[in-house]
Amino acid sequence: MLSYQHAYHAGNFADVHKHLTLYAVIDYLLRKKTAITYIDTHAGRGLYPLDAQETQRLQEYREGVWPLWQQRERLTETLLNSWLSAIAGAQSDNHELTHYPGSPWWLSHSLREQDRLRLYELHPGEHQHLNAQALPMQAERVYSDGLAGLTAMLPVATPRLCVLIDPSFERKAEYHEVADAVTYTLEKARHGVVLIWYPLLPAGHHHVLLDALKASGIRKIWRSELLLREPDAQAHGMYGSGMLVINPPWGLDERLAAAMAEVTRCLGDESRFEAQWWVEE
Ligand code: SAM
Repeated sequence: MLSYQHAYHAGNFADVHKHLTLYAVIDYLLRKKTAITYIDTHAGRGLYPLDAQETQRLQEYREGVWPLWQQRERLTETLLNSWLSAIAGAQSDNHELTHYPGSPWWLSHSLREQDRLRLYELHPGEHQHLNAQALPMQAERVYSDGLAGLTAMLPVATPRLCVLIDPSFERKAEYHEVADAVTYTLEKARHGVVLIWYPLLPAGHHHVLLDALKASGIRKIWRSELLLREPDAQAHGMYGSGMLVINPPWGLDERLAAAMAEVTRCLGDESRFEAQWWVEE
């Protein structure tokens, strides 16, 4: 039984980290004409009205996209500015932040005629919301398990592949399941670009995923973490957001470091960003 609903967390600091990384990766991929298959294994609703009851309950966007949006006139970093302009394009009035776009929005807005997108969502209610979104023809919405769907699709018909894996990690087994699916994906698509999001929690469950990937033999795994505050073993809840990018486009690290320097300035004194190779070439 799935209970997680991303609407409670939409636009939080983890979404900023994840979607800014995704945006930067897509920006590099679009520099070549060859077709790309995008797979979003855990799609969610696609677009989140910030005034929704669920989102208003925790208002996590106030420690995420909101301070960036408020200060956007003063920001100077190119990638971050371009990302915020894209968010402006998701609003009905682009001066006011009323909606936060989820991964299906980010992926579908970059689709060219030659590209494909498959969006998996297993929660019936979330899938229904996703179905209600207006998306381009090449975006196919599938109501089934995302990791099983990903592995069944390989190898894909296009020369390039880009996968986003963004589970809710409601079950601890998901850390292992993600590592297994990623290992299989890289066996079938050696040059595929795979982005994996993970939470930083006091219990440190993400080490299962990181250790399994290190042991898998996969090379070129780049890791970045955005911390909202320092870890505290006594405290509950997510203190940071982690992203792995396998086969990152050249130059991604420098571009994100510059954007994240501005992000952490806006998020507050305790916030910091770190990035390095988890497994080198
Ligand atoms: N990727 C989305 C974004 O960035 O906007 C957010 C996704 S949210 C963190 C995780 C989603 O995965 C939830 O909507 C949940 O219902 C869905 N989910 C959970 N288990 C799943 C599974 N086995 N296959 C596909 N979707 C699943």
